[in-house]
Amino acid sequence: MSTGKINVSVENIFPLIKKFLYSDHEIFLRELVSNATDATLKLKHLTSIGEAKVDYGSPRIEVKIDKEGKKLHIIDQGLGMTADEVEKYINQVAFSGAEEFLEKYKDSAKDSGIIGHFGLGFYSAFMVASKVEIITKSYKDEPAAHWTCDGSPEFTLEAADKTDRGTEIILHIAEDSLEFLEEFKIRELLTKYNKFMPIPIKFGTKQQALPKPEDAPEDYKTEYEEVDNIINNPTPAWTKQPVDLTDEDYKNFYRELYPMQFEEPLFNIHLNVDYPFNLTGILYFPKMSSDMQMQKDKIQLYQNQVFVTDNVEGIVPEFLVMLKGVIDSPDIPLNVSRSYLQADGNVKKISNYITRKVADKLKSLFNENRDDFEKKWNDIKIVLEYGMLSEPKFYEKAGDFVLYPTVDDKYYTLAELKEAITANQTDKNGKLVVLYASNKETQHSYIDIAKEKGYEVLLLDSPIVSHLIQKLEQDNENMTFTRVDSDHIDKLIQKEDAQISKLSEDESSKLKTVLEELVPKATYTVQLEPMDSAMAPFMITQPEFMRRMKEMGQTGGGGMFGMGNFPEMYNLVVNTNSELAATILHTDDKSTQERLVKQALDLAKISQGLLKGEELTAFVKRSFELIK
Ligand code: ADP
Ligand code: MG
Repeated sequence: MSTGKINVSVENIFPLIKKFLYSDHEIFLRELVSNATDATLKLKHLTSIGEAKVDYGSPRIEVKIDKEGKKLHIIDQGLGMTADEVEKYINQVAFSGAEEFLEKYKDSAKDSGIIGHFGLGFYSAFMVASKVEIITKSYKDEPAAHWTCDGSPEFTLEAADKTDRGTEIILHIAEDSLEFLEEFKIRELLTKYNKFMPIPIKFGTKQQALPKPEDAPEDYKTEYEEVDNIINNPTPAWTKQPVDLTDEDYKNFYRELYPMQFEEPLFNIHLNVDYPFNLTGILYFPKMSSDMQMQKDKIQLYQNQVFVTDNVEGIVPEFLVMLKGVIDSPDIPLNVSRSYLQADGNVKKISNYITRKVADKLKSLFNENRDDFEKKWNDIKIVLEYGMLSEPKFYEKAGDFVLYPTVDDKYYTLAELKEAITANQTDKNGKLVVLYASNKETQHSYIDIAKEKGYEVLLLDSPIVSHLIQKLEQDNENMTFTRVDSDHIDKLIQKEDAQISKLSEDESSKLKTVLEELVPKATYTVQLEPMDSAMAPFMITQPEFMRRMKEMGQTGGGGMFGMGNFPEMYNLVVNTNSELAATILHTDDKSTQERLVKQALDLAKISQGLLKGEELTAFVKRSFELIK
């Protein structure tokens, strides 16, 4: 037996490890199972190249709780270590890594990713154990070794009688960490971090039904046998080739990832690249509500099938964080801050690659089955529209598949839309006027008017649509967007049905004076328009620009305009050819005039959804009076 002092200049490293990584001490299990996996994969490699002349067999890893003995065992059948190797890899190398770690992170980070990267992986065991043993037998023809360390820099190393190849790590769980002797806790950790690791992991046993015998009697009772409980799926879908996977396989994998999720994904995108960086994964488009905060099952980030985090901010382009699925890449630096991550060249490339892949997939879905794509549009539009706004590379490609639905469920691409409205939706400068509604219900009367004129009306109802429209107008100079209830609409309609006013100029100005006296001046600009007499006598429109700016202020956009408080301003459009206009003009009774204007204004407000509260109550009361 030999004893010695671990090669370390920092007097006592363990309290430091505990302190730095306190919040994440559960990762010890991930680290130890990763080491066991590494050891097994190394052996596989060595046997495959003929370096190790042993039978690889079908090795697995076992995690075992010994509750009475207060011990946790992690046992592998990997390549093992000789006593010399323990000395080298555990005593020397690991601690030089530790020093580097401490040097670098003395007073800052405690990112859980650090540990493996600085060779501190094994020592994370001391976050939960007061004493750690390694019993290991190398695949080489050398005696087994037994290393023991109680958390002080002193260790012992002696020969052991283990004969089967591999390593057993024994953690004597510390009094303040007894939770790690609970079965449910270990199961939870294995499921969280090791669910897709490449070597089968056994944890306990389970009952499995035996097949029913052919000659089973009527009253046959199912019999069970006790079998090993394997906790992981060593070959998850993302590690396979797309050609080997069916639609059903992708859906099954989604269920495996999100067992509590009952909705099926809309479609998936298989990522697979090995140059200039290595990345695999599967992303899913879930059904999306327009409430972007809702989403809780996030994209999971793995490194070589080991779960790292579900915070992929900075790695996946921002507009795609609402997607679900898995990304696996050994090339993403984990031991760095988010801001560093954004500056990292590889990470930027990964993010761009994902954007491109998603755009390509959308394009091919659109081309292969446009019908189906249109059906899914409402569930994906929010992500795509957000992508157009936030990711120039995505915006460039969006023309190929982004759709603009009409209120009648027709779907245009931008190019198709331009073509469809060229004939009769231009303003006096020859600009294309795109009419849109944001709500079919509340803007119903306005949609109706526009449709009667034969105009196409889009239905653009995402919360960020005002930003998108602003951008589209910037990039398509010959286009202007106008909501059906905005002020531009009367210009368009007017052009079409240029009507001759039934009122003389004098009468017009008299009517205007009367109206301006009776409606609140600060809110309404009175505008007289000679329209078809069938059109509503009073109509409220909103200046498109003001409304849009206001909406943009509400939905963020980086507080682009820095002002949230636009005044409420509307146009009151009065149809001078309507009977009501004539009646108001020709009655001499002031109170009748006032009653008519009030009622008409309220009706116009109802059409805009503007009549609320006290005003609405008063209106209802007044209307009942009228029909008495
Ligand atoms: P890393 O895994 O990043 O190399 P660790 O501290 O986790 O750092 O492990 C240090 C070294 O100890 C490993 O590189 C490996 O050589 C050795 N080791 C740890 N666990 C095992 C094991 N289960 N079987 C064989 N070797 C191991
Ligand atoms: Mg390790």
